[in-house]
Amino acid sequence: MIENLYRAIEDRTEELVALTSDLIRFPTVNPPGEAYTPCAEFIARRLSAGGFQTLFMRGEGTPGDSDRYPRTNVVARKEGRGPGPTVHFNSHIDVVEAGEGWTMDPYAGLVRDGKVYGRGACDMKGGLAASIIAAEAYIAVNPGFSGAIEISGTVDEESGGYGGVAYLASKGLFSKPRVDHVIIPEPLNKDRICLGHRGVWWAEIETHGSIAHGAMPFLGDSAIRHMGAVLHAFEKELYPALDRKQTQMPVVPEGARRSTMNINSVHGGQTEDFFPGLPSPNVADSCRLVVDRRFLIEEDIAEVKGEIVAILEGLKKKRPRFDYAIRDLMEVLPTMTDRDAPVPEALAGAIRQVFGREPDYVISPGTYDQKHVARLGHLHDCVAYGPGILDLAHRPDEWVGIDDMVESAKVMAIGIGALLNGAARPAT
Ligand SMILES: [Zn+2]
Repeated sequence: MIENLYRAIEDRTEELVALTSDLIRFPTVNPPGEAYTPCAEFIARRLSAGGFQTLFMRGEGTPGDSDRYPRTNVVARKEGRGPGPTVHFNSHIDVVEAGEGWTMDPYAGLVRDGKVYGRGACDMKGGLAASIIAAEAYIAVNPGFSGAIEISGTVDEESGGYGGVAYLASKGLFSKPRVDHVIIPEPLNKDRICLGHRGVWWAEIETHGSIAHGAMPFLGDSAIRHMGAVLHAFEKELYPALDRKQTQMPVVPEGARRSTMNINSVHGGQTEDFFPGLPSPNVADSCRLVVDRRFLIEEDIAEVKGEIVAILEGLKKKRPRFDYAIRDLMEVLPTMTDRDAPVPEALAGAIRQVFGREPDYVISPGTYDQKHVARLGHLHDCVAYGPGILDLAHRPDEWVGIDDMVESAKVMAIGIGALLNGAARPAT
């Protein structure tokens, strides 16, 4: 039986390559959200030819949505002959801009030396194509299957997923009883299962001062110097504390196996948009800092925020005239699916069959659409699994290996079978 499934996928290798190239030829660049509708329509045509029912859902009113750049999502569903669970493959169709450094047209879908090249080849049109071929091959070999298989192409993952998975999840498309198991074919390597991601908190910290003549700064109060004190305290107290917070989460790369914080930007003082004149010399009355704090499943978001507030409050006591404001910009809790939940278990079994080895379990340092499935869909049997090498994502001359796509399509197809037949343990 497995042999038939393998053959059905191998026989579709050319189709898989052509499908990947076709998907790359839609320049679904985000921002602004180019070519979403034709790409979604292409996916719908392809799947409805195979008996899937398709549904378009526009993320109306979500960030970036407009008549010029509609946030068009597609969800395709193939019902089996009998009742049973639903396995859903979700891929984002948006890509980041090509950027500099390409040695070829990033939207040509060029095939060379066993690789398909182009923006989105690995992140994640190769994964989308592999899941489509996996589903079609599974259905061809098992026409009498029970349950349902869904494939969605969603938008805006690269900008937070609000018009895509978040929108669909808020409409119940990622919840029971409609959907039971979700696989997101992000490029995490063909023999790894990504169980989830670290948490994120973005915040803006503003220090206040008072404006005065730059020649007599003692008459004012510099918000930038106050911010300097904040940065100094971060270096002395916060960063060492973050380094000490190691996690049990198997985050890759290993450097991210602890708490981290990036300072995204600092804005203070006079604007430099003064060309052709000069800025007037003033003491800065405001300075803003945007931080990107990535945290662990062992940490509580209140504790994450609390340690920064404690530093700011400490400065308020120590430093004359120090005053600040802090504003939340975004927060996403860490998520980690249990290794013995049905989806990771089914994929682990499939990886053993295809590669003859144990899978690696990993956690992504940054978030992806799994957050919305967990947060809004309340569905926790979800992982990322797909072909492609994560390090190639967003880079020039991005590619996906054809053999990798074929092998991961086999893993996906075996996984579908295990989940539909309940071979994996039921969710608890
Ligand atoms: Zn991606």
